Amino acid sequence: LEVIASVEPRVAEATRKELEDQRASLKLIASENYASPAVLMTMGTWFSDKYAEGTVGHRFYAGCQNVDTVETLAAEHAKELFGAEYAYAQPHSGIDANLTAYWAILAQRVEGPWLENVGVKNMNDLSEADWEKLRHELGNQRLLGMSLDAGGHLTHGFRPNISGKMFHQNQYGTDPVTGLIDYDALRAKAKEFKPLILVAGYSAYPRRVNFAKMREIADEVGATLMVDMAHFAGLVAGKVFTGDENPVPFADVVTTTTHKSLRGPRGGLILATKEYAGNVDRGCPMVLGGPLSHVMAAKAVALAEAKTESFQTYAQNVADNAKSLADGFLKRGAKLVTGGTDNHLVLLDVTSFGLTGRQAEQALLDAGVVTNRNSVPADPNGAWYTSGIRFGTPALTTRGFGHDEFDNVADLVVDVLKNTTPGVTKDGGSSKATYKLADGVADKTRAASAEMLDKHPLYP
Ligand code: PLP
Repeated sequence: LEVIASVEPRVAEATRKELEDQRASLKLIASENYASPAVLMTMGTWFSDKYAEGTVGHRFYAGCQNVDTVETLAAEHAKELFGAEYAYAQPHSGIDANLTAYWAILAQRVEGPWLENVGVKNMNDLSEADWEKLRHELGNQRLLGMSLDAGGHLTHGFRPNISGKMFHQNQYGTDPVTGLIDYDALRAKAKEFKPLILVAGYSAYPRRVNFAKMREIADEVGATLMVDMAHFAGLVAGKVFTGDENPVPFADVVTTTTHKSLRGPRGGLILATKEYAGNVDRGCPMVLGGPLSHVMAAKAVALAEAKTESFQTYAQNVADNAKSLADGFLKRGAKLVTGGTDNHLVLLDVTSFGLTGRQAEQALLDAGVVTNRNSVPADPNGAWYTSGIRFGTPALTTRGFGHDEFDNVADLVVDVLKNTTPGVTKDGGSSKATYKLADGVADKTRAASAEMLDKHPLYP
């Protein structure tokens, strides 16, 4: 920090403050974690200064021998850890990984056969008329993914996202009564819609997915099965999700982030069968900018960590702690989407407290509990204010929190929400954003949190 402060003290100060805040708050954002010092330090090296467009052994720049080493290590660790035929460590983030995967699937399923049909190897050799036809063909494909309010991600075909614009998109939801994926309804929708790509995976669905069933459905309609395991990659790596719950043996392409439950650096990763490997490997520079070599190096370190037995224990604890948190909410009368959890996240419906997600999120933040508001299925408050709060256990499990502490976290959260009243606007109408947290509750909650957090210091 001293070195940074000598150039821009405000950045040094914000960095120091960020550590202080992370140490002092209950980090319950389901997509966040605490990477190890080894991972963090690997990101801050001179690899940052190296350009390496292209792929291992086939770069558009000279002098990439050391980048080749770290990229190969990241890919080899990923292949071994997940049992994948091929791994691509370059995506800069989860969204980039998904975009690269879509592009590769289009290249494999549409462009390749089309070029073969017209007898041309290189796209640049196409006549203008044929090029226009191919572009039309590429833009005329269908994608079926989980809807945002059911827990899917923006990149799974949400209209305003690029994925909703590059494909004719359709979405599957969850059963209105159980909140669970209804595989029969999904099958019927897939049969009717006939997607080129079926996307499974989620950001806010608190349950496990049966990927064997997803594969069956994809096969019935001739779709490529793509699974976005960004949220639960750590549970797959840690062997909590096995058999039908492990997407890797069933999917053609699996994308993930490396920074959520997997506890690595911020970044993305793609796993694929041999069939799709060649096109995924061309992701940079066709979709992605030059790889972040320092981050690929950190991915290799994180993936090596994820191969250890202690990571398996960690992953099991993440799932067990999510149950403790969910049970803690339920026994205090709170309402959960799907009635519980069997992964790393819990989705609390805050309408029973008379609040919107936005009001609840801000009141919790005042009390040092860091979460994010989230839509619930068929959300009456829309995607901005929402009716839910999403909680995840990966970060506090890394700090060493266990069953009793998560039960206590549930108690603190319910106490804050019970003591929060929706605000009123100047003209007397109720606002979905303003709120009032009863006096003293924030201090009381922070003190109770500090007692737990002090027992599990961050980077002692
Ligand atoms: N996919 C899923 C399922 C996610 O939940 C997220 C993150 O929120 C992403 C992709 C995007 O990841 P990133 O923020 O690294 O682009």
